[in-house]
Amino acid sequence: MLPKDKETVSGQGCKPPVTVYLGLGSNMGDSRANLQRAVALLDLHPEIKVERVSPFLETAPVGYLEQPHFLNGVLQATTTLSPQALLAAAQSIENRLGRKRTVRWGPRTIDIDILLYGDLVLKSADLTIPHPRMQERAFVLQPLALLAPELRLPGCLETVGALAQKLAHPAAEK
Ligand code: ADP
Ligand code: MG
Repeated sequence: MLPKDKETVSGQGCKPPVTVYLGLGSNMGDSRANLQRAVALLDLHPEIKVERVSPFLETAPVGYLEQPHFLNGVLQATTTLSPQALLAAAQSIENRLGRKRTVRWGPRTIDIDILLYGDLVLKSADLTIPHPRMQERAFVLQPLALLAPELRLPGCLETVGALAQKLAHPAAEK
């Protein structure tokens, strides 16, 4: 067994990895290929390790309706990046995959959102975690529930699986 101080010394300079969940969406070009490329590029990042990827689900657009259906998925990763650096990495991959920012909620080759970053709750000018509105969005909760049904959002009593069920069967709540 290693002495305690040895463990501490070997860990110096290494930030502990945090488990994060990222939401992926695409409705332009070959959506499945775009999602797969995004997963591969995220995993290529030296400080991001993709652990698991949900099935990709086809979903109807929300917000701006005059556009093709989306393919959505969620991945679980570990990272040593800060939330800001993770956002920058995600945006750089969006740009690399040809994303143009035109209509808000409009068509896109790829959207990468930070859904959860450990238990962190954060609100800054350009980053809100957990991702705003993820609790109401079936296209986020359904793939997330396939990956991590027992997960709870910070400060939330219900599991992701239960929240996804409620969205799928709203009548059952009445
Ligand atoms: P949306 O994902 O809502 O369709 P965009 O991908 O164009 O829209 O993102 C708009 C802005 O949302 C980004 O510039 C980013 O600063 C901000 N943002 C806030 N919180 C998050 C988050 N958790 N993950 C990703 N982007 C976020
Ligand atoms: Mg986004």
